[in-house]
Amino acid sequence: MTAAYVVIGNPVAHSKSPDIHARFAADTAQDMRYGRLLAPLDGFAAAVQEFIAQGGRGANVTVPFKLEAYALATALTPRAQAAGAVNTLKFDDGAILGDNTDGVGLVTDIVRNAGFELAHKKILLLGAGGAARGVLLPLLERQPAQLTIANRTAAKARQLVQQFQQQRGGCLLNACGFAEATQQYDLVINATSASLQAELPPLAASVFGPAALAYDMMYGAQPTIFMQFAASHGARVRDGLGMLVEQAAESFFVWRGVRPHTDELFAALRAQL
Ligand code: NDP
Repeated sequence: MTAAYVVIGNPVAHSKSPDIHARFAADTAQDMRYGRLLAPLDGFAAAVQEFIAQGGRGANVTVPFKLEAYALATALTPRAQAAGAVNTLKFDDGAILGDNTDGVGLVTDIVRNAGFELAHKKILLLGAGGAARGVLLPLLERQPAQLTIANRTAAKARQLVQQFQQQRGGCLLNACGFAEATQQYDLVINATSASLQAELPPLAASVFGPAALAYDMMYGAQPTIFMQFAASHGARVRDGLGMLVEQAAESFFVWRGVRPHTDELFAALRAQL
């Protein structure tokens, strides 16, 4: 029987996931279909249970249900536990496995696609919301020398540092407000939602070290204001389209046990933006 998957959200019409997974399924000859499921704001769990009852095998979860998906899961992967949020559900014999593939998506895009090695590097992570928390464990697993979390509300960055002390290994993990980020970094990741409002976190241009990579999790037809700022101070820049594609590829692997190629799809999506 053709295996059924969906992306669940509210809104969900804008999601690129159905196109991405249709392409992965065709490329890897998987017998599956993938649709959109608009869940009422107060009806996420009921929508998931109904989809399971219809034979659904898995789902991607998007705004605003990632925390509810975390609560609904009957088992969590370590990376979902660390993220405190779930973007991938797998339904198996009554069990609901919750996973989070956002962080590995980011790391794959930076390391493999952008050719930027993270080990022994100094990283500045801007933001302390869901996206920042979701990428911390996969970043720390790559053993950077230092990871500084800077946030508008510095207390939230400090909370994250406390929470991830156990997983920091040999990495110097610290927190500050934007104004206190005065060192030079090899990699600066914008995990704030400032770009959505065309705003720039108030950063010193000196944070971009020689040969620095500046990565914005947001993506669009034009470089974000953060990318423009970084480029004007000599940094190499990259937006979050690759993260989107790679987190989808990881979800596909969780469900189907097959790793799809992503390069051509990435180029096709870029051309459509
Ligand atoms: P949250 O709402 O959980 O967190 C927002 C963060 O941005 C907080 O740290 C907040 O600071 C900060 N912030 C908001 N506005 C500003 C501003 N004007 N200046 C400085 N800081 C600001 O959002 P998420 O963490 O879920 O998402 C963050 C971004 O990541 C979004 O743009 C989202 O689209 C992107 N994303 C991309 C993905 C991809 O696949 N490419 C996957 C997941 C997310 P404070 O704590 O002070 O309020």
